Amino acid sequence: MTRAEDERSIYLDHHATTPTDPRVAEVVLSHMTTRFGNASSTDHVFGDEAKAAVHDAARKVSALVKSDPKDVVFTSGATESANLAIQGVARFFERQTDRPIRIGLMPVEHHAVLETSKKLADSGKAQLRFFEVDEQARLDLDDFREACQEGLDLACVMAANNEVGTIYPLSEAAEIAHQHGSLVFSDATQAVGKIDVDLERSGVDLLAFSSHKMYGPQGVGALVVRQDVQLDPLLYGGRHQRGLRAGTLNVPGIAGFGEACHLRLEEQSDDERRIGRQRDRMQSALLDAHPFAVVNGDLDNRLAGNLHISFVGIPNAAIVARIRSKVAVSTGSACSSGIESPSHVLQAMDLPRERQESALRIGLGKFTTDHDVDTATKLISAAVTDVRALMSSVA
Ligand code: PLP
Repeated sequence: MTRAEDERSIYLDHHATTPTDPRVAEVVLSHMTTRFGNASSTDHVFGDEAKAAVHDAARKVSALVKSDPKDVVFTSGATESANLAIQGVARFFERQTDRPIRIGLMPVEHHAVLETSKKLADSGKAQLRFFEVDEQARLDLDDFREACQEGLDLACVMAANNEVGTIYPLSEAAEIAHQHGSLVFSDATQAVGKIDVDLERSGVDLLAFSSHKMYGPQGVGALVVRQDVQLDPLLYGGRHQRGLRAGTLNVPGIAGFGEACHLRLEEQSDDERRIGRQRDRMQSALLDAHPFAVVNGDLDNRLAGNLHISFVGIPNAAIVARIRSKVAVSTGSACSSGIESPSHVLQAMDLPRERQESALRIGLGKFTTDHDVDTATKLISAAVTDVRALMSSVA
């Protein structure tokens, strides 16, 4: 091992973002430097080439999620996709009816979904119904069915949770929602490229995801919208993308996103199997060394790269403070008004406060090596032991 390898910080925060695959970066670069046309330019070959690249990317994106390429709307990322889905459906709904749209959602959704929905509710344009989740962040399907029976216009069910990695039963939920006449939106940002997300089979109507969670560039994502779903745009301008998202297309980003999807289709299952084995090894080592630790989320049904672990009684900030230059992990805490508070996901799971405040989100990815895993395990373990000893010495 070289000194540089030995000294580099180990990246285990793949839920936040992933490194861009060098093969993807090459595609992005070529569309920035030599194949840089505007996809709306119709008078020359530069435009033709850019337009072809966007079509090719739409084909690759839709091959990964089993949709029609015509249904893909490129956006700046999953936040914009979620806004377009929820606000877009709500705006169309507002023009058709004289009552607020009824939106159902889980309290463990990402802020992109929660805040968009809350904003609509605050302005009187939506009524929200939160679905029950349990202490593993699992959706209570009985409560979900009840909510659909009571009446919903849009049911939001994320595909996998970005904190604890819990995977949700999309097909089952979509079937129930459709039986009761509701549209289904899924934020699949953490799922696409890691587990199979199949729009045809699941019947989900609107699906949001993002390139930078699957080894593509940041700042590009997609909303896949089935042709029969009606929604209004949020941005007005040119007639780009079925009139749903005006603005010059980010061709380098989109081409890179397409390539990232193509690579995921080819490599996802092998990569995720290996990542799962590495995660399990790390989990066992940490639990063996610290028997008071608890793993959060649905252990039978979670993302392979997710290890969300509470070293109960040891403040997560103290652990991170000791390792932050050597290992990148996340506490998931939100900082508002200068006061740290545990993530809304852990709060919604109703975990004991101590377990929330001692939680670390560790996210492995496809470039994570066995050496990374072993070194990070030792560093985290030593930090936990160190803080524990310090706490007992002052107790
Ligand atoms: N939804 C989920 C589940 C996420 O994990 C994230 C990013 O962390 C987002 C939405 C937002 O994605 P983007 O950064 O592409 O806006």
